[in-house]
Formats: sequence, C-alpha cells, structure tokens
Amino acid sequence: MAEASNFIEQIIDDDLAAGRVTAIQTRFPPEPNGYLHIGHAKSMFVNFGTAEKYHGKCNLFFDDTNPSKEKTEFVDAIRADIRWLGYHWEKEVYASDFFDIIYDYAERLIREGKAFVCDLSAEEIRLTRGTLTEPGQESPYRNRTPEENLRLFREMRDGKYADGERCLRAKIDMSSPNVNMRDPVIYRILHASHHRTGDKWCIYPMYDYAHPICDYLQGVTHSLCTLEFEDHRPLYDWVGISLGFSPKPRQIEFARLSVTNLVMSKRYLKKLVEDGSVHGWDDPRMPTLTGLRNRGIPAGAIRDFCARIGVSKANSECEISYFDAVVRDWLNVRAPRAMAIVDPIRLVITNYEGSEEVDFDINQTVEDAGTRKVTFGRELYIERSDFSLDPPPKYYRGKIGGYVRLKNAYIVRCDEAITDEQGNVVEVRATYLPDSRSGADTSGVKAKGVIQWVNAACCVDAVIKQYGPLLRDADYAGQDFSERMNRESERIFMGKAEPYLFEVEEGTAFQLMRTGYYKTCREGDKLCLSEIVSLKDNYNR
Ligand code: ATP
Ligand code: MG
Repeated sequence: MAEASNFIEQIIDDDLAAGRVTAIQTRFPPEPNGYLHIGHAKSMFVNFGTAEKYHGKCNLFFDDTNPSKEKTEFVDAIRADIRWLGYHWEKEVYASDFFDIIYDYAERLIREGKAFVCDLSAEEIRLTRGTLTEPGQESPYRNRTPEENLRLFREMRDGKYADGERCLRAKIDMSSPNVNMRDPVIYRILHASHHRTGDKWCIYPMYDYAHPICDYLQGVTHSLCTLEFEDHRPLYDWVGISLGFSPKPRQIEFARLSVTNLVMSKRYLKKLVEDGSVHGWDDPRMPTLTGLRNRGIPAGAIRDFCARIGVSKANSECEISYFDAVVRDWLNVRAPRAMAIVDPIRLVITNYEGSEEVDFDINQTVEDAGTRKVTFGRELYIERSDFSLDPPPKYYRGKIGGYVRLKNAYIVRCDEAITDEQGNVVEVRATYLPDSRSGADTSGVKAKGVIQWVNAACCVDAVIKQYGPLLRDADYAGQDFSERMNRESERIFMGKAEPYLFEVEEGTAFQLMRTGYYKTCREGDKLCLSEIVSLKDNYNR
C-alpha cells in the first residue's frame, strides 16, 4: 500500500489497521441542479481518487432531494463531464431510489420517540432556534405522542396539508451548542413534481437526514465532503446511531477549492447564463467543466491541477495564475507548434523572389518531435507589435536599420515603413540575408530577436479569440458579482494563420509561437483560433 499522502488517507489507513473497515467505498454526490465546475473536479479527485488508491469503489450519487431545482438535463451533463475527466463510477445511485426506505426510517424514529410533527412555520422555527450563545426554545408540539405523530406524518405523506403547514423534526436537543442539533427539520411538505418519482411524493427528506441514510444503504465507508458540513457531522452521526447503522459511515470534511477571479457557485453561474453575460454553460470563460473542455483545457491538466493543490483541512484561495501555469506545463510538452498573427502588418522582402520550404520544429521541447515544412515567400505578415518606428532601448524586434530573425527562416533588415494617414504602420520593407537560413547560418550577423510570420501568398484568415477572467479581481470581494464582471473578458481579432491550421482536426491544441496555446475550430467556413491559455506566466513560483 502506498503511503498516505493526505489526512483523509491517514484516517483510512487507521480504520483499515483497526479493522473498522475492510474495503473502501466512497461516493461523488452532485445535486443535479446545474453543471459541474472546477470545484467539483476537486471533489471527484478526492472521492474517485481515494477509492482508486485503495482499490475500492466510488459511486455516482445524485442528491436529488430538492425536486424544484433538479432536471434530467443536468443528470446527463454531469455524467458526460465525469467521463470526460476520466473517472469511472461503480454504481449510479439516486437519493430518490431510497425514498421509500428513508420514509420508513422516519416512521421508525417517530415510533421510538425520536421525531415529531411540528406545526410551526419555517419562520417560527427559525425564530425559536436560538443563537450561537443562546439556547433555542422547544416547540409546543414536541411532546406529541408517537401515535399522534405517526397519524399526522402519514397525513402529510397523503397530501392532506399545504406546503409548509407542518414538518417532521428530529427530537434532539434545543439547548445543544450546535444549532444543527436543535430539533432540525428532517421532512418537509412540498407539492412538486420530481424528475424521477413524478408526483408520487409530496413530502421530501432534508439533505442532512437523507444523506447518512443513502451513504449507509450504498455501503459507503467514508463520506468525503467539504468543510461547510463539519458542523453537520454530529447530526450525520445522530442519524446513523439512532437508526443503528453498522458499520456506520464516517464523514470526513476537506477544504473547498476556491480560485481567484472565478465564480464557482452554481447559483451565480446560472445567473450569468440566464442574464446573457456569457454564451451558455459551455462558454469558454466559464469555470464549468463543459466550459473548460470547450476552452480546450485538457482533462489531464485539470486532474494534474487537483493533484498538485492537494487535499487539506484549511480553506484557502488558489491563484488563477497557478491553474494557468499547470495548464501551460501540461500543454508545453504535448502541443505542436504553429504560427499565426493576431494583429497583422505586411512585411515585404524586396530582394527575395519565389518561395521555398523551411523546416519548422513541431515541438522543440520534445526530443524527436520532428519538423514539418512551412512555405516561406516574399510577402509575409508579422505581428504589429513586432515592429516599432520608435523603439525603446533593448527593443530587438523589427526596427529601421535593425536585424531580426524570422522564425526558422532568415534574418532580415528592416529598411522602410509605410504608414497610413493616422501614422499606423501598414507595411514594412526589408532585405534578407541569403546566407542566414536557420540551421545553415553563415552570415555572421547576430540577430537578438526572433519573430513569427505567416506567408501572405498562402495564409488563411483566422478569427482569433482571446479570453480574460470573468471577474476583474479578487480585491472586489464582498461586492456584487455583477459589479466585478470583466466586460472585456472576450476579445476577437481578425488575424492570419498558416494554412496548416485549417487542415488539422478541429479541436487540436497548438502553441502559436510567442502568442499562446490555442484550439483550432471552425466558425462557418472560417478558421477560428480560440485561446486556451496565454504564454505569459504570471505565477510566482
Ligand atoms: P455549489 O455551491 O457550487 O452549487 P454544491 O456544493 O451545491 O456547489 P453539489 O452538487 O452539492 O454542489 O456538490 C457535489 C459535491 O461537490 C459536494 O460534495 C460538494 O461538497 C463538492 N463541491 C462543490 N463545490 C466544491 C468546491 N469548490 N471544492 C471542492 N468540492 C466542492
Ligand atoms: Mg449543494
């Protein structure tokens, strides 16, 4: 057995050593009320990853106790996202599969005097719950007999009452220092159609009551969840003990993933989709898994990110630049190279005639990655920012009288620039050094700068999309997300690209030299290059 690499694995090792469990069973428990996001990737990494490490099993458990918000559309999307990330679930289970048993357990609690039907409204329950420093008040309905409770609870089930008119509460301790233990509601009346059970039920169990039961019925040994459930653990245990579960599943909490500049809650993501701030759940700027996939982020890079940030007991915020750095590292050794120009100006080599093929490194960081042919010619496009009429000190790219190397081709000297009425450069005229060809340079001229280019005679137009974060920055914390929205998070350019990029399979990730990692796609009959991550590394290692 590999050594425990985090506190969860240590607990599991202890449980195994003490014989409290023999095989490990976990579950990943999404509520099908939206799309999964990168935070869920961490939860999957913990749940599926831990099961895998111990040769155990992990179920996909849909927590569908909240019928008004849940939809089959989300169930399907969640399945697809988990598969895409590369995880395999043992069984697919729904809380609603267990509604009958959960109901029977409630009757049992009632018969044993551990639950009662309460007629207080939700508001009255809230007002009598007390505070962190003051105990709550007992409900006047707390001492109903089990017979009366059973009758009322069955009437609730049979639809005799309106939503909120009554509820079932666990009878625990109104003076408990833990507010969750102050006679929590465990069943509520809700006349709503459920995505799986239809109109069979008009009462639904509350999460805190249903979850330990569902865990137990699935044989979950370790119920791994995020820290906000820590205060709910006594209730989780109360349910297990009251119902005599053996072996009782064990809840362990870990820190949520939060990332700077990312909105992670489904509620907000839904709002962005509904108010049109983004193109949909799969918008490349969304931190949803479907958005990240559409962005071109490889599943392996996301898993790698989760592994690298680790599992801890203390909440902390991860820099988005760290995520970007992991994606860049992942792609650097995998993505082939190509050339494209985002903001083109023309470069005419006045002493060059015809065309020729030059060798272009497919990936210079990988041994034996090989080369492919790129056609060089007299008229090229280069990046507007790679030529300056007023160069600052140490500017080694194109300038009048200066030498610069065209990537994998020749050194050129810029002789002249043609500008429009506003003074913007539209064309640069240059001469090339015939004996400076890459790999066979005998010119003796040192060109400090290397720039990318595309051949005007054969290049294709490309719609180039770049993305910034959806939220401006973390310092706006506490403000409304709508105020923090980065209105320029999507920028579109009309650029030029090597024709090769149009021939490869759509969706391929490339490093566009000196620009960033981009995914190829089609927009109508046009090539589109969509940014995965820029080359600029802001992460402070
Ligand atoms: P949200 O608040 O974003 O809607 P949620 O917690 O309601 O998320 P669920 O569908 O209930 O979403 O989550 C399924 C599992 O994923 C839960 O165990 C939850 O704790 C976990 N999870 C959700 N967000 C994160 C996160 N940011 N980091 C780690 N785990 C998370
Ligand atoms: Mg939730």
